[in-house]
Amino acid sequence: MAIETPPSTVADSTDSGQSVDELQILRTWMQRSAIGLIVVDALGIIKFVNPAAQALCACMAAQLLGRNCVALFAQDLTPAETLTMQNSLAAAQGWSLETLIQRMDGTQFWGNFQLVPVEDALTGTTLRCLFLNDISNLKHAADKIQRLSSFDQLTLLPNRAQFMRSLQQLLSGAGDAGDFVLMVWIDVDHLRTINDTMGHAVADLVLQSIANRLRDASRRQDLLARLGGDEFALVISGGTDPQVLQDAAERLMRSLQMDLATPDCDVKFSLTAGTAIFPPDARYVEDLMSCAELALLEAKKAGDGAIRHYVTELGNTGTSHAQAVAELRTAIFSEELRLHFQPQLSLHSGQVIGLEALVRWQHPTRGLISPVHFIALAEECGLIIPLGEWVMQTAVKQIRAWRDDGLTPVRVAVNLSAPHFRQKGLPDAIEKLLFEHDVPASLFELELTESVMMRDAEAAIHIVDRLKAIGLRISLDDFGTGYSSLAYLSRFAIDVIKIDQSFVADITTNPVNASIATATIAMAHKLGKTVIAEGVETQGQMVYLRRHECDEMQGYLFSQPVDAAAISAMLRSGAGINLSLDQGDAQMTLLLVDDEPNILNAIKRLLRREGYRILCAESAAQGLDLLATHRVQVVISDQRMPVMTGTEFLSRVKELYPDTVRLVLSGYSELESLTDAINKGAIYRYISKPWDDDSFKQDVIQAFRHYREHNPASPFNDHEAN
Ligand code: C2E
Ligand code: CA
Ligand code: CA
Repeated sequence: MAIETPPSTVADSTDSGQSVDELQILRTWMQRSAIGLIVVDALGIIKFVNPAAQALCACMAAQLLGRNCVALFAQDLTPAETLTMQNSLAAAQGWSLETLIQRMDGTQFWGNFQLVPVEDALTGTTLRCLFLNDISNLKHAADKIQRLSSFDQLTLLPNRAQFMRSLQQLLSGAGDAGDFVLMVWIDVDHLRTINDTMGHAVADLVLQSIANRLRDASRRQDLLARLGGDEFALVISGGTDPQVLQDAAERLMRSLQMDLATPDCDVKFSLTAGTAIFPPDARYVEDLMSCAELALLEAKKAGDGAIRHYVTELGNTGTSHAQAVAELRTAIFSEELRLHFQPQLSLHSGQVIGLEALVRWQHPTRGLISPVHFIALAEECGLIIPLGEWVMQTAVKQIRAWRDDGLTPVRVAVNLSAPHFRQKGLPDAIEKLLFEHDVPASLFELELTESVMMRDAEAAIHIVDRLKAIGLRISLDDFGTGYSSLAYLSRFAIDVIKIDQSFVADITTNPVNASIATATIAMAHKLGKTVIAEGVETQGQMVYLRRHECDEMQGYLFSQPVDAAAISAMLRSGAGINLSLDQGDAQMTLLLVDDEPNILNAIKRLLRREGYRILCAESAAQGLDLLATHRVQVVISDQRMPVMTGTEFLSRVKELYPDTVRLVLSGYSELESLTDAINKGAIYRYISKPWDDDSFKQDVIQAFRHYREHNPASPFNDHEAN
């Protein structure tokens, strides 16, 4: 009887036996693999397809054989893409393409084609194998991240990150054309008071109506953005007379100062603004924004509704550009730089598993200066490479010193600037440095930002490959803030994706940022990469990230960046973070939110014999904190609460924790306001206030049962409360 040879016997078999086995394995792979295989000739004519390729394209082999592979593409390639493809096919060279594929049944999917030339030893010819993968899921995740991370969801205006990218482009164009650009930083006065007294919904309306008015009042070529909270930006450009721009800004700001009529009330609000002009006030994006922000602070002093233009402060001009460069040069070459280290922890073990090296400048008169104040200057004046070299050397020497002190050294990551990354011979230089200090490459990591990599991505792919070949770990810094092209992301041999701190900051309260972070984690894991979150400051953020399978974290919660001596002490004591989840998480848990402590106590008393763990919060914010740090199945919230109503709170809970079962406590008079939330699925049921004890209890028991029915994998499933 013929028995299929298991792959493990391949290594044991004789030479001749081995080639037969390998063929067999290849044949089986070709038949069973989920990866499509399409063999084409030098012109792209299809000669062979495996079953997976037929399944992916929803057709029979006969429908594909003899056709050109471009017939599979749902949209035309650009002339450049066509040329690259034709050349690669003709020369039988590696090539890849991400494109929409047309199925025979009319539907489409995102496919990734990879051309792999295979020598046919028998005939001496080269086969052109096209491997086809369905990457629709990855593509959708990437699109979602792109969309969510570029636009503010409330006003649909570009967000700060997107704004800065557009402004960057605008400034370089204006610089070439010799045009002026004016930025207005707009602040809504007293939005917090509106929020507190009229509710979240009214404050949202105010923000939306400002966004609409800004859209109406501005021209197509102007830039608009919501910078965050109650702050907006407007950028007017064109023309060679700055005064014309300033007048236009003032006119526009006056036209925005209007009251807002809502169905319930009229809301009065005013806008205060600061402006700055490129190039006289500032020549770079960050600088232009800080000038406009300084002008806004002046306007705030003048009172609500004021507008002020940036006036160069005398103090600022104290050090000239040339002087600053000279000082920085001295700093680098006379040991005024210091290297601090911030621990990175495993979210699986709680142990310190790495450090990020962050540079500081110990200035003789100005004290310790943060890198945000001198990295840009160093890049601009060509000092960034010597600075980066100093950082690498110091980091490697430090790893060696820790080892000599008998400590188990941990991996150290350094930030790599664009010019340094592109410097010829960088991989050799790093290899030499590690060799000289006898430090293994596995203890050294490089952090690269998306913008560093994406500028000439093809070249960057090769540099990264070369750096990987040394054995270094590579991470992609500030993920989510730049252009993330999935095509490239999967082709870069990076090990780690670092979620930018702007997403982490409000991960437990902002459903949009939470979903960017979780989509990033899922996508990175699909690509086989590790994920680290930076800027973790609270226990809630850490628990949330851990629950969503983030692998590592870095942030003030565990430690700020500290000097080498402090790290030595930390490593010696084996410090780490306690990850053991609350014991109570094994118990079915109810979260109660009500601003009246009496009500919380009454409900707790009522349910005390039911066997639930009961968590109480006196505000929506407190409730979100508890949700981040505890596993909760059922949430009951009062409807009438200051700052955020129960339905607003539960809608947010639905987005952040969709599995929870949510109930609202409400008086009859407020029932009207619940219908929308009920229709949107934010609320499972309402409990009327005042309530009947027995039916309250029944509602709660029913809610837990509903949870178990909809979460069959839940550990509580065989546990019935009595
Ligand atoms: P980065 O690479 O994104 O570094 C993380 C920054 O976040 C550090 O700021 C760190 O101190 C800060 N941070 C860490 N945890 C938290 C937290 O929990 N909350 C908050 N609010 N912040 C946290 P730092 O040291 O001021 O560095 C700023 C930037 O300067 C770095 O951003 C990096 O882009 C650049 N930089 C620092 N050192 C170097 C270097 O040696 N070479 C190069 N090229 N750039 C460097
Ligand atoms: Ca970094
Ligand atoms: Ca970062």
